[in-house]
Amino acid sequence: MSNQTLTVVGGGLVGAAIAYGAARAGSRVRLLDQGDAAFRASRGNFGLVWVSSKGGSMPRYAAWSRDALKLWPELQGELLQTTGVDAGLEQPGGFWLGFKEADVKAREDLLARIDREVGGIPFKMMDPSELRQYLPGIGPAVVGGSFCPLDGHANPLMLLRGLHAGLRQRGADIISGVDIASVQHDRANGTFEAVARDGQRWPSDRIVLAAGLGNSDLASQVGLHAPISSTRGQVLITERLKPFLNYPTNKCRQTREGSVQIGSTSEDVGLDDGTTTEKIEALARRALDTFPALSRARLVRAWGALRPLTPDGYPIYQESESCPGAFVATSHSGVTLAAAHCFAIGPWMAGLSQAPAGFEAFKGDRFSDPNASFSHDH
Ligand SMILES: Cc1cc2nc3c(=O)[nH]c(=O)nc-3n(C[C@H](O)[C@H](O)[C@H](O)COP(=O)(O)OP(=O)(O)OC[C@H]3O[C@@H](n4cnc5c(N)ncnc54)[C@H](O)[C@@H]3O)c2cc1C
Repeated sequence: MSNQTLTVVGGGLVGAAIAYGAARAGSRVRLLDQGDAAFRASRGNFGLVWVSSKGGSMPRYAAWSRDALKLWPELQGELLQTTGVDAGLEQPGGFWLGFKEADVKAREDLLARIDREVGGIPFKMMDPSELRQYLPGIGPAVVGGSFCPLDGHANPLMLLRGLHAGLRQRGADIISGVDIASVQHDRANGTFEAVARDGQRWPSDRIVLAAGLGNSDLASQVGLHAPISSTRGQVLITERLKPFLNYPTNKCRQTREGSVQIGSTSEDVGLDDGTTTEKIEALARRALDTFPALSRARLVRAWGALRPLTPDGYPIYQESESCPGAFVATSHSGVTLAAAHCFAIGPWMAGLSQAPAGFEAFKGDRFSDPNASFSHDH
């Protein structure tokens, strides 16, 4: 057990995975979370564990996602064994399905380029007749697709529950319902204090800011740059259906329990996590074009959730130079990267291992140039 105390601000998938990784590596961990009043992407996402097409403009991110997928079975097994929580990982491979020939061609070019630049991200393009051998229910609107054998899906809510259970089991202090308003650095002692809006204070030797949309304000207080905005995703879910979809796809996936999850939109609407009939209709139509038999399924729920997103859509992982021991972590792929956050980022930010190689690519400083322009890649 390390003598150092690590505070993690943010108990979503990113913060919980890092905190769990730090605790299992021997750090004393405290997790501070806003709780039910907060925007929480971790409770509203699509559940894909996915590398295919990730990192088209940043090879280090493609490699990071690829390696994260390989670590996932270890996390799944460990959580199941130690907490009894099944995070629902299945990695049968996954399909991207296209409605336009031009999109299918663009997809093939992108996947070929990523595999060439990064390596170890295999894929196969398929025409509709070959796709039907794996996905018998696809409709005539699907003109082609790609398959990546590494892709899969999980149950994000059970993952979050498993990480929190694992944290408790390893003696971490989980404090919910606290809104951290400031982070103070004592330069002389090299320590930190997280200060809540109601005046409560928590001292620690190190601090990780993993507060999703809350990161921008907190990071700047310890010399870190984390410009994060929100992009809303709306998702639909059907009643439970007989199993018919053995592989997750980019448009829908069938959960182990039988529901079909349909998603998701990508909308710049600020801090509005509501739903709209226009988008629900568009998602439903797209799902019917993909799998016409879904026309007989009843929708039971729709929701919106806000993705914390950097200007280029890639993660930020960085230690502060002016306040060493303070870190920021944010990613829009909190499910996909959960095992890497746990096994690699947690020990690094706890001071128990080095930063993974090539991690300069993920510094938030890449957004410091006011004249630079970015487009989301997610
Ligand atoms: C519709 C949709 C679909 C998605 N699909 C996928 C997918 O298929 N695969 C995938 O990998 N990812 C997916 N994502 C992204 C994924 O959900 C996010 O990457 C992940 O949830 C981010 O986790 P987080 O912990 O950073 O943020 P959040 O889940 O938003 O958690 C942030 C936490 O910080 C806390 N917090 C914030 N401010 C403060 C503060 N001041 N003090 C204390 N606590 C604070 C909040 O309480 C909250 O619990 C999707 C997201 C959406 C919205």
